[in-house]
Amino acid sequence: MKRSLVKYLLKTAPVGEEVLVKGWVRTRRGNKNVQFIALNDGSIVHHIQIVADMSIFSENDLKPITTGSCIEVSGKLVSSPGQEQPVEIQAKSIKLLGSADPETYPLQKKGHSLEFLREIAHLRPRTNTFGCILRLRHALSFAIHKYFNDHGFFYMHTPIITGSDCEGAGAMFRVTTLDLNNLPRTPDGQIDFSEDFFGKDTKLTVSGQLEGELGALALGAIYTFGPTFRAENSNTPRHLAEFWMIEPEVAFNDINDNMDLAEDFLKYLIRYVLENNIDDIKFLSNLYDKELIDRLNFVLDNPFVRLSYTEGIDILTRSGEKFEFPVFWGADLQAEHERYLVEKHFKRPVILTNYPKEIKAFYMKQNDDGKTVRAMDVLFPKIGEIIGGSEREDNYDKLKQRIEELQLPMKDLWWYLETRKFGSAPHSGFGLGFERLMLFVSGMSNIRDVIPFPRTPKNAEF
Ligand code: ATP
Ligand code: MN
Repeated sequence: MKRSLVKYLLKTAPVGEEVLVKGWVRTRRGNKNVQFIALNDGSIVHHIQIVADMSIFSENDLKPITTGSCIEVSGKLVSSPGQEQPVEIQAKSIKLLGSADPETYPLQKKGHSLEFLREIAHLRPRTNTFGCILRLRHALSFAIHKYFNDHGFFYMHTPIITGSDCEGAGAMFRVTTLDLNNLPRTPDGQIDFSEDFFGKDTKLTVSGQLEGELGALALGAIYTFGPTFRAENSNTPRHLAEFWMIEPEVAFNDINDNMDLAEDFLKYLIRYVLENNIDDIKFLSNLYDKELIDRLNFVLDNPFVRLSYTEGIDILTRSGEKFEFPVFWGADLQAEHERYLVEKHFKRPVILTNYPKEIKAFYMKQNDDGKTVRAMDVLFPKIGEIIGGSEREDNYDKLKQRIEELQLPMKDLWWYLETRKFGSAPHSGFGLGFERLMLFVSGMSNIRDVIPFPRTPKNAEF
């Protein structure tokens, strides 16, 4: 007999059929006449109830069926007299596939703190919470590919290992095979990277954007979706050292088209999980964030506010609010400022544009005022910055001048600059942090709890 998924049995309820299920025991309870096993197979947050009539099974048969053990059950699907579930399985045979010693299995029935679960990240996928998180990650990933595919974008694979040090988005991790105890040196005492694996100093990428632009200037519209790495010592609930980023890049789009794309894309993804993962979202909402579903619907129902950085600074200075970090024209906005604009002032997602060029990357398109660039950050309630993007500088001379002003190494950027020499075109793009989006749709408040194996300062376990 073929195994049925619990999801299928609960949704279609084929009462009267003989079925086979396999999964992990969440609880077993009952008395000497009848025992009830809650079985979860990961396909859905809900468990299926297995009813073991103790005239068929012995105490000894059921003894090893403890929380965490893995079993295979065949029997008849019947309507359940209980309120909690539509159907249950009257067990005919129960086979133990893997036991779980009740003395040492860490996930007993009582709830555990999220902090404790991080310490057992190898087992936390077995909890209801992380089942929901992992299913949501899957659904969102699928929806991202679907959105872009349906809109004529091509999925482009940009390199993870990069030889350029100036992707402009943050501190980088070095990639090397040199013997750290015996480093080769050049005559002037520097580390001799010509002896390293790639014959040069290499790093893990912080963004696929620069290569993504090469794709957009050939295929029209591309996106990347891959891991990115930042070696910043940011111990916050919103930063990981390894996170996944989605980066669309589109030829002929200006900053306004870019904002339209970002808003449409985010709304599509939120709608997708509300339509396809409502069980997971409801479960997480009940446990962690009662306002989650209202917040998701609110974002869907309202247009994002669009305003300039300068207007944003005005609102913040006039707010009378006490901020930890000072507010002045030219300051980089902190999460507290972003959240004030979104949560207190507008009470809606905000897209801020036209930032001072000094606080943004070299490749952003310069405005005629000589002071600002066509950057855009999308700011969300509870999260702050969820997207960062811009129209790109497509003018060869202006881009070259900016690279020189900032003294970025031309040896790393010559190929990037060449695209502005041969068939340059206006183009725009942005980066969406996948785990920031996961925080938003799951209602979780720490980014370590929305990725299976978080990498953060001093932590690379599992
Ligand atoms: P922040 O100011 O929040 O540190 P950033 O401006 O450095 O972010 P960008 O370089 O604009 O980030 O990256 C694009 C997007 O990637 C961000 O809008 C955010 O969603 C996400 N992101 C950036 N850094 C991290 C990180 N360390 N962990 C998780 N997501 C991140
Ligand atoms: Mn940013």
